[in-house]
Amino acid sequence: MRLAPGAAIGIVGGGQLGRMLAMAAARLGYRCHIFDPHEQPCAAEVSCEFTRAGFDDEDALRRFADDCDVVTYEFENLPVAALNAIAGKLKPGTRSLAVAQDRADEKEFIESAGARVAPWRAVATLADVEVAVAELGVPIVLKTRRYGYDGKGQAWIRSAGEAEAAWQAIGEQPAVAEAGIAFGAEFSVIVARWADGRHCFFDAPENAHADGILRTSTVPAGPLVAGQLDRARPMATAIVDALDHVGVLTVEYFAAGDGPIVNEIAPRVHNSGHWTIEGAETSQFEQHVRAICGLPPGSTALTGSGATMENLIGADIDRWPDYVGEHGAHLHLYGKGEGRPGRKMGHVTRVSRP
Ligand code: ADP
Ligand code: MG
Repeated sequence: MRLAPGAAIGIVGGGQLGRMLAMAAARLGYRCHIFDPHEQPCAAEVSCEFTRAGFDDEDALRRFADDCDVVTYEFENLPVAALNAIAGKLKPGTRSLAVAQDRADEKEFIESAGARVAPWRAVATLADVEVAVAELGVPIVLKTRRYGYDGKGQAWIRSAGEAEAAWQAIGEQPAVAEAGIAFGAEFSVIVARWADGRHCFFDAPENAHADGILRTSTVPAGPLVAGQLDRARPMATAIVDALDHVGVLTVEYFAAGDGPIVNEIAPRVHNSGHWTIEGAETSQFEQHVRAICGLPPGSTALTGSGATMENLIGADIDRWPDYVGEHGAHLHLYGKGEGRPGRKMGHVTRVSRP
């Protein structure tokens, strides 16, 4: 099925990913309709239509889907049962959502697809955490099974005596206990898959995090990462195929001494792919639109010799006059207002030329 320009694309979630998807869709002549519970989501500001309703409001979701030719999502913490009500129009489907929103299900799924994750245990009590510490050793990171992002819902255990404090720090919720990986680098594989099973990859960015939040993504990645892509990419392919995923999906990896380890998956466009807007011939956002509308894949070739994306987090946004005045710096601001600590406010991409 091919949806011609002029068709309406629904986007569930109204954050910056939805905003950049809508801008890419508009450039190809599509109309976007945002569905989000907030009053003024930043994606709605650049879209034709906005439905303000709760993500669990099935009636509102049905009316919204009736108004759209295809519906996608930019956020994975959505109620699967409610989204199932519009499954006929939804790309990617709810299986991708379900797997990505629970860290224990996610790890089981990744292992079943033949990819490797860090040694882990599902934990539901302090006693479970203590067993995990005894079996896996330290350091360990506890991550809540659900609703974690940007390092939230995580606590490290660096000695057995810290188990109880970490368990309390994550709110004593069902979690995974995961062995800390002494990685040499982090990277991501951004893959787009079409309904007929075709896929294409972007250059894999090397990602630097601070306090659990992405700071920079750089292509080309360094030699450690480059040497692991021939193992990492087939893992990503196995994951999207097993999910029958349509659209962009991102797999985050640790580049360990003995090869790539999958950290987590995001069934959507991803912060580590923002550099593609100027750094690749086709952006991750346009590629997602192409995949869900059944258009041919766009070229993922680099436009220069590489690119670096720097996130503007919290008060970083106050430096916008410097970036907007810097020749060759591509400034993106998400229109989110106040720069609260830890909030992603925008990003800057610099494309390098040979
Ligand atoms: P989020 O959903 O918040 O992105 P992640 O699981 O990706 O959660 O964790 C955020 C960051 O924390 C990672 O990118 C990495 O830098 C660090 N981290 C997470 N898990 C581990 C681990 N097992 N070993 C080492 N570092 C980790
Ligand atoms: Mg992550």
